[in-house]
Amino acid sequence: MHQFRIQIAKIRALHLIAAAALAVSVSVQLLAGVFPGSVLNSIAIAWRIETCGLVIALLATLAGAHRLGWTRRQVEARDEARAHLVERDSLTNAYSRYRFMELLEEKLKRIRSQQMAGQAPGEFTLMLIDVDHFKKINDTFGHAAGDQVLKTVVQVAAARTNWTVGRLGGDEFAIIIEDTDYRHILGDTTNFMQKLAELLRKENEKNGYDGVSIGLAQAPLHAGLADALLTCADIALYQAKRNGRNQFAFFDSDMQRTQIRERLVARELRAAILLNHLAVYYQPIVDHENSIVSAEALVRWHDPVRRVVIPPSEFIPIAEQSGLIDSLGEWVFRRVCKDYARSGFKSIAVNVSGAQLMHDQLVPMLREVLRETGCSAGNFVLEITETVALNATPTVINTVCQLKEMGFRLSLDDFGTGNSGFALMRELPFDIIKIDKSYVQKLGDDAIAQVFVSGIGRLGEMLGFEVVAEGIESSEHKILARGAGSTRFQGYLFGKPEPLPQAEPIAAKG
Ligand code: C2E
Ligand code: CA
Ligand code: CA
Repeated sequence: MHQFRIQIAKIRALHLIAAAALAVSVSVQLLAGVFPGSVLNSIAIAWRIETCGLVIALLATLAGAHRLGWTRRQVEARDEARAHLVERDSLTNAYSRYRFMELLEEKLKRIRSQQMAGQAPGEFTLMLIDVDHFKKINDTFGHAAGDQVLKTVVQVAAARTNWTVGRLGGDEFAIIIEDTDYRHILGDTTNFMQKLAELLRKENEKNGYDGVSIGLAQAPLHAGLADALLTCADIALYQAKRNGRNQFAFFDSDMQRTQIRERLVARELRAAILLNHLAVYYQPIVDHENSIVSAEALVRWHDPVRRVVIPPSEFIPIAEQSGLIDSLGEWVFRRVCKDYARSGFKSIAVNVSGAQLMHDQLVPMLREVLRETGCSAGNFVLEITETVALNATPTVINTVCQLKEMGFRLSLDDFGTGNSGFALMRELPFDIIKIDKSYVQKLGDDAIAQVFVSGIGRLGEMLGFEVVAEGIESSEHKILARGAGSTRFQGYLFGKPEPLPQAEPIAAKG
């Protein structure tokens, strides 16, 4: 625009020159009439000046016209390029965020007018898509792989006639679906996800594609304004991620309540970590003679206002989801290291969440806390659940190997809750297997549990693993678990998780 103004100014200057030349020419003519016989009166000079003025005026006008045409062409070309940019996303050819929002608002405006006029409003579904672990795709397989995934999402979605696809940014897409029939949407969304998996999970084209999470909301049923409708679809999307990703969820108002509650808990938990309202309880692990050989550290949250102890099952998932798990894990490990010397336990097992393994702060954090407290990694066991190990990405495998190199012993927790834990025993450097309590407690009357547990016992013996049976509540459980090859035992029979007497206060870490 600035350049355009300069051009206009130049044309004006040229016009000014032409006008001045003409004015001079006319003035000379007039003066010649007023002062006959003067030098100016010379017809030849006046004629030449006039001609000269007219020529200059003509040239100036021509140049101005040329300049103006050139400028207009420039501006038009630029506007065209800008219009295309605004209309479409250049990578995927989906509607740009700006244009998609315009379309969404237009649709909702029409619905509102129909409602005002007492007509049956048009309805539609808004779908929000988020590519699972997109950052990992880019980081591990390169930006070309990431681009390919984004392009395929749009290509598959846009192939449907009643889907209008927009890219909201990064790996986030929104789709207007001209349909609200639950069964149709269910079928179409499932097909869409299957088609994506088919195209992107080819053996020969490794791109790290893990799936997409999808949230769905309906207009005008859930909201009549664009922002509110997007929020509803976003709440459903969050729920789909929360349920384990690579799935879709329809919005409902309960979801909103759950998420508000979770956000509240996350805020209180953040404060609890800073204010040291957490505690670590220890549960003994015994050998076949019931002698304590180690203990498992289990976190608790003491709420001073409600005067209750909140169990980890209520806040660990929220900590994982909200990113607080890293500071929570650090708090627990520091507490355990500080407790170690006076605990009397030779070895203490600490739970490590899958979310911590996905982040790269874990190894430096453990190193730093060991250095700060003067503890040795060899005194600790890190417990990693089987489901996490089963879905181990290259980042997780790398971290697990680093932990082993640091000197920690590794335990495969909740063994049996995944499906193919046996393969992991060979692939990852675990030292201990903890059989999930759901198997141990069924040993008395479930033949499959008996075969499963004795299989692990035998394998442990062969490969040199320690096998811990969890959830031992009775002597019968212990006899059966021991008979099936377990060498260590943990459960209420030997002791519930308890705090150490008079835990030393720990300095808050901001
Ligand atoms: P987990 O690692 O499987 O821990 C064992 C759970 O079984 C503990 O529940 C323990 O109290 C319970 N338990 C022990 N013996 C028995 C028994 O004989 N019968 C029955 N029914 N239960 C028994 P808790 O303390 O509520 O912990 C629940 C889960 O929370 C843990 O399961 C672990 O996954 C997680 N968790 C606890 N502390 C931490 C922590 O510091 N960090 C992380 N990331 N997760 C933790
Ligand atoms: Ca555990
Ligand atoms: Ca366990």
